[in-house]
Amino acid sequence: MARAINFNAGPAALPAAALERAQKELLDLAGTGMSVMEHSHRGKAYEAVHNEAISLVRELMGVPDSYDVLLLQGGASQQFAVVPMNLLPAGKSADYVLTGAWSQKAYKEAKSVGTVRVAATTEKDKKFGRIPSQKELELDPNAAYVHITSNNTIFGTQWAEFPDTGSVPLVADMSSDIAWRPIDVSKFGLIYAGAQKNLGPSGLVVVIVKKELVAAGRSDIPAIFQYRTHADNNSLYNTPPTFSVYVLRNVLEELKKAGGLSAVEKTNREKAKLIYDAIDERSDLYSSPVEKSARSTMNVVWTLKTPELEAEFLEEAKKRNMIGLKGHRSVGGMRASIYNAVSLEWCKALAELMKGFKR
Ligand SMILES: *Cc1c(COP(=O)(O)O)cnc(C)c1O
Repeated sequence: MARAINFNAGPAALPAAALERAQKELLDLAGTGMSVMEHSHRGKAYEAVHNEAISLVRELMGVPDSYDVLLLQGGASQQFAVVPMNLLPAGKSADYVLTGAWSQKAYKEAKSVGTVRVAATTEKDKKFGRIPSQKELELDPNAAYVHITSNNTIFGTQWAEFPDTGSVPLVADMSSDIAWRPIDVSKFGLIYAGAQKNLGPSGLVVVIVKKELVAAGRSDIPAIFQYRTHADNNSLYNTPPTFSVYVLRNVLEELKKAGGLSAVEKTNREKAKLIYDAIDERSDLYSSPVEKSARSTMNVVWTLKTPELEAEFLEEAKKRNMIGLKGHRSVGGMRASIYNAVSLEWCKALAELMKGFKR
């Protein structure tokens, strides 16, 4: 059976080698005669997998020792609440930069926990088709933190450069672009990412957080929601999603084999260029709702002139075994999600279809 050319937004394509390894080891992890799912999370076999996943995150992303790497549950959406529960004490306020539906959700959830401000929004002037400039940000110098969404999965925009927040910790939802390229983790107070776009199975969330923020976090909330609980217990306070962590380990291992994040960045930029070039070359047919400087390397969004043409395009794509190209239900149009595991060949095939369509 041929693997689908998968442009799904999330859950999304994973490296075939990572899945094949899981298939091969499904009934027998490391000669133990048991599946990873059947092992105690306190046993040696699982612990090796768990620790390898954490150290691969550290190694690939260059995470400083002054940060904890946590493997948690509940996806990115749970972090929308858990971040303010930990980092937003009474009497303080947090700044949110609204660049799309996910940052709006994060803001709304934080509002139910404490005082929040909107430091900037790009909703009205260009319907989230751009990223605000540094000077547009109305930052509160006394804020507990500033929250951004590094890549806007639905609207197809991405921060090319991260904002300068001075001494206020920068918190980023990197669910849809974590590990797409090397970044300087020390610029952030906290990074969180649901795994199902670039890292592995859904439900699992990776949190990279400065130890001093963990230590200063509120302790008057349930233990299960305190970062300190998970940091103190190496993310083994309660039973972790063992199979998901195992697949994360496999995905990270493939990323390392591919040459790490610098190598992956080069390929990712090439992939995105192929599709954006096709959009620009066929401006008779396609248009992009996104400002050029804000174009995402992970989610490429475009429209055709009529809904009929869009339906025809999807039909042609389907004939070529390509799936997941329909835009998010809230915005319509087309969207190609081209995360790390989407190959250059797949993007070439899509660009060819786009350039040749109706010609
Ligand atoms: C997918 C996504 C989420 C939601 O993730 P869940 O794991 O479903 O909670 C949040 N933020 C961004 C940027 C996303 O792309």
